Amino acid sequence: MTAMQAARKTLSEVFGYDSFRPGQESVVAAILQGRDVMAVMPTGAGKSLCYQIPALVLGGITLVVSPLISLMRDQVSSLLQNGVRAAYLNSSLTSRQYSLALDNARRGVYRIIYVAPERLLTDSFLDFAVNAPIAQVVVDEAHCVSQWGQDFRPGYLNIAPFIERLPRRPRVSAFTATATQSVRGDIMRLLALENPYAVTTGFDRPNLYLEVRREGSRDAALLRFLGEHRGQSGIVYCGTRKGVEEVAEMLVSHGIDAVGYHAGMGDEERQTAQEDFVSDRAPVIVATNAFGMGIDKSNVSFVVHYNMPKDLESYYQEAGRAGRDGEDAVCCLLYQPADVHLNTFLIEHAQENSQLDEQTQRIVTDRAKERLRQMTYYATGRGCLRAKILHYFGEEPERPRCGNCSGCLTGAQERDVTREAGRIVSGVMALGGRYGKALTARVLAGVKDARIKEKQLDKLSAFGSLREEGEENIRAMIDELIVDEVLDMTDGQYPLLRPGPRAKEALLGDEPIRMTLELRGQKTASRRVTMKPQADKGLLSRLTKLRRGIAEEQHVPPFIIFTNATLRDMAVKRPRTRREMMRVDGVGEGKMDRYGDMFLRVIADYLEEE
Ligand code: ADP
Ligand code: MG
Repeated sequence: MTAMQAARKTLSEVFGYDSFRPGQESVVAAILQGRDVMAVMPTGAGKSLCYQIPALVLGGITLVVSPLISLMRDQVSSLLQNGVRAAYLNSSLTSRQYSLALDNARRGVYRIIYVAPERLLTDSFLDFAVNAPIAQVVVDEAHCVSQWGQDFRPGYLNIAPFIERLPRRPRVSAFTATATQSVRGDIMRLLALENPYAVTTGFDRPNLYLEVRREGSRDAALLRFLGEHRGQSGIVYCGTRKGVEEVAEMLVSHGIDAVGYHAGMGDEERQTAQEDFVSDRAPVIVATNAFGMGIDKSNVSFVVHYNMPKDLESYYQEAGRAGRDGEDAVCCLLYQPADVHLNTFLIEHAQENSQLDEQTQRIVTDRAKERLRQMTYYATGRGCLRAKILHYFGEEPERPRCGNCSGCLTGAQERDVTREAGRIVSGVMALGGRYGKALTARVLAGVKDARIKEKQLDKLSAFGSLREEGEENIRAMIDELIVDEVLDMTDGQYPLLRPGPRAKEALLGDEPIRMTLELRGQKTASRRVTMKPQADKGLLSRLTKLRRGIAEEQHVPPFIIFTNATLRDMAVKRPRTRREMMRVDGVGEGKMDRYGDMFLRVIADYLEEE
């Protein structure tokens, strides 16, 4: 059997997948041939298998350098579930646990060992490593080595000196999702990769609709967005913990089942929030960027950013958590100029307590500011949003306009708004000159917020009379009507809206009124439609329940047992025998032995009842 045949066998028997995804096969082949690798693949592409399969085919030990304890823990749990002997070495272990694990490692118990970069050059680890048969060193999240990247981690600079110390140089492979040209250069150089096989799979995710909304109020924009996506499940990212709490509360007060998630919450509370979301009990999770790293929820239909992140790497990584199942999904950024000020402040003050020397610090700060500038350009400029992202990652888009983002699909157009102006004037009259522009626009747009309900403004006949326009357009029209003296604004701190000298003309509507306004909801290009085999919903919910039970018993997240994609495939294929079960995507021998029969029983019971 050739090494590649062994790799394919491992793919199906250990991991339970029939075929490689784009990019995986050539990386596996290169590693098996003994080459170094530099692979840039987007989040969710399946980078782990690229090195885990060679680890099993090659023999010896594979060391994986990884930056986060939570990532290591999830990877190791997943491997153990698949029957692969693996362990991690990081600061979450007590010193006794650590030396026990090292002893096991010396005795050759583990095939794959995850290690934090700070451990590499310690005496105890070096002592183990120079005497062990290390076949492969993998650098996951390799952009952490670069000062150009958003997650520079000085410990990553230990990697090259560590490899130098080994008696025989193993193959070295580097993986990352977020690499611009300069980061790629740094990875090659700072990890001292030797003539690496370099692969970059495309960054485009055609099923994601990209959108920027620049409305006056983030809350109103968010509520409107969620109104447009009722019944779907998604993530709302906020910049701060306080923001998470306020936004979650605001949503709940509007009757939306939202849970909050941030690193300042207790472990248990956080775990519950995550489970409520992953299991679809809560369709919306409001979170800081701490949420999502190890989460494998495939049916995330939208990701909204309530605040603009500090750079496009962060933005695309977080937004990319939508639509991993390949279904159409939306990534919406709510932009306000205040975001730029806040991020600038954070960049300037983030460095104060770091251990970097002055000059390095200045470089890091300058680069962070440049990245922020690019992010701001994405949020505020015109043109195709997808093209901007692809350009940023050094890719040439296929077409200058993708036809599936708000940059392509919204434009401005002059139109007749005589009827709309009449409705605005009667709305202003019905409100009796007691309210400002924003509230008036909300009443006309039919937004039921707390203030409107309290004042019973939703009982007015003007409520929702311009619903199809949306708040933003209504506000734009009001502004124009003020200029035309159809409406009038009082002076003072809280300017009130009232009819102007020419209100009656507008009300009668004999003079046509024209304005240039943003087009709304009109798509100039048709969106791609994806067809998927239908999973049996009743069966799927039973399988999910069984999975949840097992996960709770074992104290691991449900996706470690089986991913959503695997459960869905089970509900499509409805296997009756062990052999049929092995054909389900994501069911390998290890998981078949552990759980196959339990799931087969649930399926059999279900089919009998049908
Ligand atoms: P990345 O590190 O690139 O973000 P992961 O390695 O975590 O991605 O993989 C993402 C998901 O894709 C996992 O659930 C994994 O099991 C699944 N996956 C990886 N390779 C394949 C494949 N060849 N076929 C089906 N699913 C795969
Ligand atoms: Mg990964």
